[in-house]
Amino acid sequence: MINFDYVRMSSTRSAIAALNKDTASQIIAGGTNLVDLMKRGIAAPRKLIDINNLPLKNIEEVNGFIRIGALALNSDVAEHELIAKKLPLLSQALKSGASPQLRNMATIGGNMMQRTRCTYFYDTTMPCNKRHPGSGCGALKGYNRMHAIFGASDNCIAVQPSDMSVALTALDAIVLISSNKGDRRIPFGDFHRLPGNMPEKDNILQRGELITGIDVPDNDALIKNVFYLKIRDRASYAFALVSVAAALDIQGETIKDARLAMGGVAHKPWRLTASESSLKGKRASVDTFKQAAAIAMKGAKGYGHNNFKLSLAPNAIVEALKTASAIT
Ligand SMILES: Cc1cc2nc3c(=O)[nH]c(=O)nc-3n(C[C@H](O)[C@H](O)[C@H](O)COP(=O)(O)OP(=O)(O)OC[C@H]3O[C@@H](n4cnc5c(N)ncnc54)[C@H](O)[C@@H]3O)c2cc1C
Ligand code: SF4
Repeated sequence: MINFDYVRMSSTRSAIAALNKDTASQIIAGGTNLVDLMKRGIAAPRKLIDINNLPLKNIEEVNGFIRIGALALNSDVAEHELIAKKLPLLSQALKSGASPQLRNMATIGGNMMQRTRCTYFYDTTMPCNKRHPGSGCGALKGYNRMHAIFGASDNCIAVQPSDMSVALTALDAIVLISSNKGDRRIPFGDFHRLPGNMPEKDNILQRGELITGIDVPDNDALIKNVFYLKIRDRASYAFALVSVAAALDIQGETIKDARLAMGGVAHKPWRLTASESSLKGKRASVDTFKQAAAIAMKGAKGYGHNNFKLSLAPNAIVEALKTASAIT
């Protein structure tokens, strides 16, 4: 590990100023991803800006949104009374991630910023365009069991590993960002990006910007019929092969509103808007769910070892919708 400076900030303003002063600096929150990256030589910040003392641990109702501070811990958010009552889909997604010990350290801001788990990205002896632009992609013709089936490019077929982000995409959350130029609000679905020819960039956050929190619309219609399905190799402590965040507003037997997003299948949480439209106004039934799943799979492409996801993903969509709607 290289030598680095360390500073602990006590205000958002001073953290942003420190971030702008030194271009080789990086924010550290829970450290559960960044420290691993530093140990392996994948990240080498000259200065760590510790933001854990910033007043960003709030979980509260603000003007029609549930606002969650960037430093709220994954475990605290998952167990919070307001989140359990108003955002059960988010609570389920958070509880499916990592282990209790990790969730006790991991923050909301850090979770959405965590880097891919592609094994070639973590192995510095292998080519990886994300780690070392222009070096090639080890996974494209290598062992790609965990990799993307949607939206990939020949430069990178990695997936975004955050469970929380899949639920927040489905729930139309907004990312709150501050910098010395002011504040901006970004729809969660636009925060992560596809690899294209710049796979080294995971998201749209600019140098000098700090995530201060997220706003999730307070929508009572999307509380009762929700389910986060995570399919993985082990029951815990494993990243998703495929996950589905499903939220339905069902009145009588009719689906009035639907939200669907998938994880483990793309470089960003994969929102299924065409499937959502197909569900609206239909009777909640297995046939309706199968149609929505078929629509979701348009354009999917396997890369060899991950071809099994082409059938796992639609089955997972149907299963998540069945569980969310309590249809057997
Ligand atoms: C063994 C293991 C298993 C795991 N399993 C899962 C899983 O199943 N599902 C899942 O979703 N996650 C999983 N994780 C990932 C874990 O959830 C993340 O490591 C964690 O959420 C990162 O949060 P952190 O606060 O520790 O971030 P840090 O490691 O401190 O930071 C991560 C990145 O975010 C940046 N950052 C942090 N806060 C901010 C901010 N406010 N503004 C701007 N940038 C910021 C940092 O600069 C850094 O680049 C696992 C991790 C491990 C080690
Ligand atoms: S899939 Fe992306 S992260 Fe993995 S080796 Fe290829 S470029 Fe690197």
